[in-house]
Amino acid sequence: MQHPEPDTVLIVPAADVCRVLTMPRCIEAIDQVMRRVSQGKAQLPLRNFVRVPGGAGLFGAMTGCIEEPLAFGAKLISVFPRNADRGLPSHNGVVLVMDPGTGRVRAIMDGTSITAIRTAAATAVATRALARPDSRSLAILGAGEQAVTHLEAMTHVLELRRVRIWARSSEKAQAFARSEGARHAVPLEVSASVREAVDGADVICAVTAAREPILRGEWLAPGTHVNLVGASQADSREADDEVVRRGRYFVDLRLSAVNEAGELLHAIRAGLVTEQHLLGEIGAVLDGRLTGRRTGEDITIYKSLGIAAQDLAAAHVILDQAARERFGIRVRL
Ligand code: NDP
Repeated sequence: MQHPEPDTVLIVPAADVCRVLTMPRCIEAIDQVMRRVSQGKAQLPLRNFVRVPGGAGLFGAMTGCIEEPLAFGAKLISVFPRNADRGLPSHNGVVLVMDPGTGRVRAIMDGTSITAIRTAAATAVATRALARPDSRSLAILGAGEQAVTHLEAMTHVLELRRVRIWARSSEKAQAFARSEGARHAVPLEVSASVREAVDGADVICAVTAAREPILRGEWLAPGTHVNLVGASQADSREADDEVVRRGRYFVDLRLSAVNEAGELLHAIRAGLVTEQHLLGEIGAVLDGRLTGRRTGEDITIYKSLGIAAQDLAAAHVILDQAARERFGIRVRL
């Protein structure tokens, strides 16, 4: 890819990210990069976080290098869960892309929108690989930013007939159903409880900031596919031990999972499963080196923690377009 103005840094605001990084484009970019990650064609050290004094939030650095397409850089992101009260996103930051030839800063992109889109795209890729092909009903737990992009992403990989949404605030669930129901041609129902939402669901997306389990394994029907996206810290869980125990358990990155996947770590500590319960990375399922779903009765789980490779792959889609079309702001540092 040609860098149009090599001395400048391209700043890409959220509006351009959202216009260029369409969900179908992002899904295909993530599909490819997850394969490469599992083939060892990426360097992805464990992310590190600092806790902001006062307890308002975290700030993290996710660095990485992917080989195809060649890209390296970082996402710097803060997570302030109570920001919604101020009408602000809970995740704020930037994706920094360096020039692989010179090591100079090449682009700085809005990380809030990239995170929202790439995470849902990764879940869509996993769902396409692991859910029953005849899955028609979806339950979304949570009504925040990820819920919005996850609903969109699921419409690209599933032929949905019914979507149920649950959120701890029924007003927010109702508001979500009104706004998102108008955007997507699929019936959206609000559920009064998690149990009601997941009853009969073929696919579940847990996208809440809950730190204690809201989803119980005893509620899952055989054949369900579960995406656990929300809990990103070792001491947080959205699902109980029984969900983990019952499922064929796949992750985005093994290194992240053995350090940060709260549900798995808790189930191991409780003696219900061992580390061997983690069957492997979704990339290995995608390129056929690992069996995902074996039968229509299997419960499958995709644990998403988020990796810099996804941010870099998404950023590459945007840079690719920037080589053909002028957008964003160019500055000299
Ligand atoms: P938002 O802040 O936009 O939404 C959070 C949602 O979780 C809201 O619906 C909120 O409800 C709900 N929630 C908060 N606490 C609880 C609780 N105790 N029980 C039930 N619901 C709760 O966040 P995002 O949508 O951006 O992110 C959702 C989750 O996904 C977060 O935990 C985030 O860290 C994680 N995430 C994971 C990524 C990955 O790659 N795996 C990437 C990005 C985010 P209310 O409105 O009532 O507060």
